[in-house]
Amino acid sequence: MFKCEFSEMNRIVVVLFIICSVKCSARGDIQIDANYPGGNIAVERIEGDHVYLHQEIRDTSTWWFYWNFRVRGAQNRQVTFHFTNKSVFDRQGPSISRDKGVSWSWLRMGVVKKTTFTYTFKEDEKDIRFAYSIPYQESDLQRFLAQHANNKNLEVKELCETRKGRSVEQIRVGNIKGNSVYQILLTCRHHSCESPASYVLEGMISAMLSESEDGAWFRENVEVLIVPFMDKDGVEKGDQGKNRKPHDHNRDYDAGLYPSVRALRKLVPLWSRGKVDVAIDIHSPYVRNNTLYLVGNRNSVIWKEQCAFSTILENIKNKALPYKASSNIPFGKSWNNENNYRQGCSCSGWTSTLEGMRLATTIEVPYGNAGDTAITQGNTREFGASLVSALRLYLGE
Ligand SMILES: [Zn+2]
Repeated sequence: MFKCEFSEMNRIVVVLFIICSVKCSARGDIQIDANYPGGNIAVERIEGDHVYLHQEIRDTSTWWFYWNFRVRGAQNRQVTFHFTNKSVFDRQGPSISRDKGVSWSWLRMGVVKKTTFTYTFKEDEKDIRFAYSIPYQESDLQRFLAQHANNKNLEVKELCETRKGRSVEQIRVGNIKGNSVYQILLTCRHHSCESPASYVLEGMISAMLSESEDGAWFRENVEVLIVPFMDKDGVEKGDQGKNRKPHDHNRDYDAGLYPSVRALRKLVPLWSRGKVDVAIDIHSPYVRNNTLYLVGNRNSVIWKEQCAFSTILENIKNKALPYKASSNIPFGKSWNNENNYRQGCSCSGWTSTLEGMRLATTIEVPYGNAGDTAITQGNTREFGASLVSALRLYLGE
């Protein structure tokens, strides 16, 4: 009897041992890296299910908040990520991509505790990306442009090569036969981490090429010159890009340190046939700033035009993102002052001096929330279409 009980216990121990060793051997090392376009992370150490890491500031002269990393080999584990350089979460918490960075959603703030977030990896989640925002890379632009290949109202060329040898695109959309009534310049990503801007730009291009009345009007009347990535190296390397030393791309319009800025300054007067009507430079604001707004120009004549355009934009119906003209930051308010101008000429500072210019503006599209609305790839694109409707009304249709 005793013998029998003993062997029964032995069997249980052996079975438990086998289960444990199978489970333990399945728990390999978690691999974390940022070796892909837009990646940015410094891993300090991994202790079991706890990862200590921080965003790479690189050559930015101030604290900044962009990060984007990949986790492999963490299936069936609950892992806590500890950020060691302040809170780097926006209003919706971290974003997640389960398809190698093509589509993104928010994990929301429920997973966040102070400067950490926790995620439980499912069985099939072998390759997961997390990021501060919803990233947008050159590959996203290429995928978008492929949908419009052979469209006679769209042309893609090279503006210049970057310092690192990457190609900077220039895109022309609309009436590109050389007899347009209006010329519009659109620029994005002077600050490389400001990816929501790129989704708005995609939405604008789609609207201009669409079968809508706005699209037809643009293709008849407007030639649009677009530089989607002013800091292409920064976008692809996953840099913060803001406040680079000695200055960033959006403070370079007098110095001309960067090839893309030099090339744009040279191209625009030739391209525009002596008249640029509108220039919009799309940005994203500071961490956890959930207001969509225009930055008031120092030139009071231009500011008046910004106000006129803002009223039109505010009154566009069914906008996917909330916008109020009263949210604009006029010159002289908050950080928008003389001191800011002394740091170097910005893109809109430069465009406001171009011949024929009516509306030269910077627009800031938040990362996490616009008001109470969570930013998505879809609603930022839809907001781009609202901007196109507003531009058509503004230009006098
Ligand atoms: Zn910016």
